[in-house]
Amino acid sequence: MFINSSLDEVKRRENALKFIASLVKEKGRSSLHDLSGLAGGFPVEESDLELLETYAGPAYFYQSLQKEGIFHLGGEKVLAFNRTSAAILATIMALVKPGEEVIHYLPQLPSHPSIPRSAKLQGAIYSEYDNLKDFKLGDKTALVVITGSTMDHQIIPRDDFEKIIQISHKQGINVLVDDASGARLRTVVYNQPRAMDMGADLVVTSTDKLMDGPRAGLMAGKIQLIDQIADKAHQFGLEAQPPVVAGIVRALQTFNPQRILDSIKRKDSLHHQLNDLMNSFEKTPTGVMISADDLLKEVTAPETDLFVSEREVATLMAMILLKDHHIVTIPAVGMPGVSTTIRLDLASRDAENVDNTQICHAIQDSLQKLKKIILDGEKCLKLLYEPEDCI
Ligand SMILES: *Cc1c(COP(=O)(O)O)cnc(C)c1O
Repeated sequence: MFINSSLDEVKRRENALKFIASLVKEKGRSSLHDLSGLAGGFPVEESDLELLETYAGPAYFYQSLQKEGIFHLGGEKVLAFNRTSAAILATIMALVKPGEEVIHYLPQLPSHPSIPRSAKLQGAIYSEYDNLKDFKLGDKTALVVITGSTMDHQIIPRDDFEKIIQISHKQGINVLVDDASGARLRTVVYNQPRAMDMGADLVVTSTDKLMDGPRAGLMAGKIQLIDQIADKAHQFGLEAQPPVVAGIVRALQTFNPQRILDSIKRKDSLHHQLNDLMNSFEKTPTGVMISADDLLKEVTAPETDLFVSEREVATLMAMILLKDHHIVTIPAVGMPGVSTTIRLDLASRDAENVDNTQICHAIQDSLQKLKKIILDGEKCLKLLYEPEDCI
């Protein structure tokens, strides 16, 4: 066993970040290829810098945030948070009383942990469904959450979306849409309307997902609800501070859906090329992915009784991709408990710097190395936890 606790994962993450730091220092940012789809960015301008103060900042950026935020998400008013998770927590604290129920509908389990965790913290009952047949409101339901696009980019069908809003509104229950990536994937790739235009009461998106903004949450909704949530957010320090707000405003202004559209065609040809190597890669809306389960099957022969977990095999693969090919994927750099799917997102800004043949070569090479070292415990431990110089 190479990964036994979340502490081990903290160590793995630190090791990955150390490698990235040395690579960027030695060879510059352009030597790194962040294909996580979560690279974010901070496109502020020189003139913004002198306004990053506690009071002048919000005064100045507030109006642009309203204008750009409403243009992107719809609704009457917007509010910026430190994270999407923070926006979800503030909403549940503001709209759900202890003992009441939060119901979550998503196209495919598992849920993002921020929703059940926030419900638990508030002392609320939590139920989740990924099948419309099972979805049912109860006497104590106070809030319905819909996830528009899951962490693995599974998209909710428009019909399901509309039905749930209809059922909830019939009983006067507010609907929050967690559109972390969905605010762009659903609209740009699947031509679905914005959540607010489908009747949602609130929507939140992550400004670093398929967009070059800081990791933060941008929420839009009806004025009265937003004000109620803002009150809670301020009490617990969940609202975004001026530098992050400035980054969000500039990211919204420079957002261009063309990069997402370009990635759709490119992923088809990458998927085709990868299929010649192995057929466990699946398409995502803007790239390709391989689940830890499938990866484990690829690297272990059926007759061996190799004792490695899915998380271990995915993390090892991600660390090889990082250290040998300078490709960043989530299992290498994510927080403890992060998704074990290796996803290559071609809508990432860095995807412009590597072509499909390079990516295929990196995958093939990494897979071969993985098959070799997985039988050697010492090498695995070294790869995960020991600092190595970049090559
Ligand atoms: C990313 C994501 C979140 C949380 O975003 P953070 O910035 O990490 O708080 C919540 N829900 C879904 C569906 C996500 O994909």
